[in-house]
Amino acid sequence: MKSEIVVVGAGASGLMAAYHAARTLVSAGKDAQVTVLEKMPRPARKVMITGKGRCNFTNVKAWNDFSGHVRSNPNFVKSAFYNLPPQAVLDWFEGFGMPTVVERGDRAFPVSHHASDVVDTLVSACHSLGVKIETEAEVAGVAVSECPPGFTVTLADGREYKCVKLIVATGGLSYPTTGSTGDGLRWAADLGHKVVPTFPSLTALVPKGYKLTEDKDLHIDRSTPLSELGEKLCGVSLKNIQLSLQVQGTEADAEFGDIDFTDGGLEGPVGFQLSRKAVKALVNGARVSLVLDLKPGVSLTELTGRVKELWAEIDKDPRSKRLREKERCRILLGKLMPWDLIPAFTAMNPGIITLERRGRADTKVWVNLVSIAKALKAWQFDIAGYVGYERAVVTAGGVSTDEFVAKTMESRLVPGLHLCGEVLDIDADTGGYNLQLAFATGALAGISAAKSLL
Ligand SMILES: Cc1cc2nc3c(=O)[nH]c(=O)nc-3n(C[C@H](O)[C@H](O)[C@H](O)COP(=O)(O)OP(=O)(O)OC[C@H]3O[C@@H](n4cnc5c(N)ncnc54)[C@H](O)[C@@H]3O)c2cc1C
Repeated sequence: MKSEIVVVGAGASGLMAAYHAARTLVSAGKDAQVTVLEKMPRPARKVMITGKGRCNFTNVKAWNDFSGHVRSNPNFVKSAFYNLPPQAVLDWFEGFGMPTVVERGDRAFPVSHHASDVVDTLVSACHSLGVKIETEAEVAGVAVSECPPGFTVTLADGREYKCVKLIVATGGLSYPTTGSTGDGLRWAADLGHKVVPTFPSLTALVPKGYKLTEDKDLHIDRSTPLSELGEKLCGVSLKNIQLSLQVQGTEADAEFGDIDFTDGGLEGPVGFQLSRKAVKALVNGARVSLVLDLKPGVSLTELTGRVKELWAEIDKDPRSKRLREKERCRILLGKLMPWDLIPAFTAMNPGIITLERRGRADTKVWVNLVSIAKALKAWQFDIAGYVGYERAVVTAGGVSTDEFVAKTMESRLVPGLHLCGEVLDIDADTGGYNLQLAFATGALAGISAAKSLL
């Protein structure tokens, strides 16, 4: 079969690439076919689950701020960003009849908060320009062909496509159930490109003792059962905390915001934010811990004073008269943190209570108020590992951008081959940045591939 341009992967970047390729051809009056080959039964499975089904499809920050959230190769994606900046992405969706809304942190969503609207818009925009989207069309391999010059794309069912321009938009390795299994990484390597080692990013970090595993493996599958400690913490969400990442005992980063303890481990916006550096450090053999400050707004001295005041109030309260020390301690902790956090806090910070044996049947319990304040300011979680690609939001690493032209997304080694999206060594923070990069690099790849046919 023949198609002048073949796009492999009907994800965020592939569909945007196909649309822009077709638009460039149609605007120039050129009659040429654009075909998208997608292995899954439906296009853009991953986009469907983005933003917890709400799809945070871009972030409308200007480049200076936006680029600070791009974790690898921000300079490489700058041309793509300016070619299709966030506001243009927003206008594009609006232009195709999808109302949008910009929320806290400059994050843009469809007004409906349905990711399916984003997918439907991408698909119908492609169809409106005659793009052919073939689903259940798994590509098994790609090869450069000499005569005629171009590419042969072989499908798993044995069919072949001949094309002049090939756009590989197969994504990374994360959430393989959506179809992204790293095929493009292998093809690019086979065609002579460097691949920067990949690792999961924006993923849950697993504290030591959180899961029932004896394994020394750093990849702790999300399905590994929780330990007693994990059961105590799982389900707890904390707001307005400070989390500091310690690598080999030295602070490597710190973030303020919210975290969640889940069946995977420690995640949520702040956990995710620190996960890239944490996973990279773990993979490199470093000792990693997270230090949680539950009261970032006050100093240790102020907090110690406050804890002592609260203790004195409890002491004076007539209702406390018949309570034992441990029960009073629980009341104190209840004034300082969510109730559901107390069991894990006391289990992981045993120094907050000391037992003094005074005789056979006489043990005095001491509540150490200074230790409580210290643990509230610096509750340490040593990290055993991380949840892998099975539930990581993005893949860090990928095909090296060194061998691609930033203004066209074309390979320097294989003319006519363009890559876009997460298959490349580009990744960013949560907040709409990753989809913006997928759309922008996809658009540039599509336009460049089509222009060279004119
Ligand atoms: C749970 C989750 C939530 C997320 N939320 C957000 C968010 O709210 N905002 C944000 O900006 N980013 C978010 N992301 C990240 C974002 O979804 C990705 O960065 C983006 O989808 C990457 O786009 P892509 O086109 O490169 O790859 P993908 O969207 O992964 O698309 C690749 C496509 O290629 C297809 N494919 C792969 N191999 C083959 C083959 N051999 N033959 C044919 N087809 C193939 C796949 O089936 C897939 O459809 C989220 C990711 C996850 C997992």
